[in-house]
Amino acid sequence: MDKKDYYKILGLEKNATEEQIRKAYYNLAHQHHPDKNGDAAKFKEINEAYKVLSDKQKREQYDKYGFVGGDPNMGGFNWQDFAQQGGGGFEFNFGDMGDIGDIFDQFFGGGMGQQTKGKRKKGSDIQIDLELELEDVIKSIQKTFVVSKHVSCNRCHGNGAEPGSQTEECHTCRGTGRVQQMKRTPFGVFTQTGLCPECQGEGHKPKIICNVCKGEGRIKKEEEIAVTIPAGADHNQVFSIPGKGNAGRRNAPSGDLYVRINLKPHKVFKRKGDDLYARIMIPFTKAALGGDVEIKNLDQKTIILKVPKETQSGKVFKISDKGIPHFSHRGNGDIYLELVVQTPEKLSRKQKELLEELRKEGL
Ligand SMILES: [Zn+2]
Ligand SMILES: [Zn+2]
Repeated sequence: MDKKDYYKILGLEKNATEEQIRKAYYNLAHQHHPDKNGDAAKFKEINEAYKVLSDKQKREQYDKYGFVGGDPNMGGFNWQDFAQQGGGGFEFNFGDMGDIGDIFDQFFGGGMGQQTKGKRKKGSDIQIDLELELEDVIKSIQKTFVVSKHVSCNRCHGNGAEPGSQTEECHTCRGTGRVQQMKRTPFGVFTQTGLCPECQGEGHKPKIICNVCKGEGRIKKEEEIAVTIPAGADHNQVFSIPGKGNAGRRNAPSGDLYVRINLKPHKVFKRKGDDLYARIMIPFTKAALGGDVEIKNLDQKTIILKVPKETQSGKVFKISDKGIPHFSHRGNGDIYLELVVQTPEKLSRKQKELLEELRKEGL
């Protein structure tokens, strides 16, 4: 596994501020810019590091797991714990900088000068919030929800042409799908080949446009989507479902769907990582003499805690391996129970008398 240390690449410490990250990136990007005979591989690496560390969510992800979604190291695992921000993630103050990665690929990606068709513009990504109870994440769970999104048009099968109608070459790009564009960046103006605005990179267009989708090849529709949320999913965790975002125009690839988990607060347990915390009230007699305390765990199973005699209020008991299942490895978190000794209220006459007796005994 090739895990890159993004902090090291930018010459930073793990606790670097946003400002330090920005500065380090700006200096290094200048130094290694291919336009100044810099090291191309290094430049790409710097950009990759900056894209992650400049994005609060991606940085958190990276700090926690050592990678962000889209990492090829994740292999065939479909669920990517991944928060996607639109665009290149650059937040410079020199106006629109565009996506440096794209420009870079233009120069070094081997595509220069080739008369290849334009990279088709994908459909946009969709992000939805999925509200879950804490009980929902102790096992993997399937949830369905309805999303209003662009789907491929049935009438034209997504190509935008009336059934039986021909397609013709796009005049604007002469069938190449690409046009020349000027792009302004902090490092100067680049001439770049961009997507043809007329045909969106297809190189051809329908002669007669489909009368349902008006040539778009996609229509807005509500679609039911089922997702399986793995056990141990946490609040604000984001899962991606590749290809379930908006359909692209005229059979261009679909975007991705991002599902963000919104865990509702629980009435007994507070979650911290995979551990659960709760405060349990016990009568002072149980604290003094000892006894059992029963609590219901999230799986509705009863946990019996043996309270030793002479337990003080505020004492915390740990119950190992009964918390939330770990998301990325075997086992579970723990449960921490804080016992709070209750002072009795609304005493009966007999109780008062007995307590008076205890007082006489010096309690
Ligand atoms: Zn065109
Ligand atoms: Zn259509």
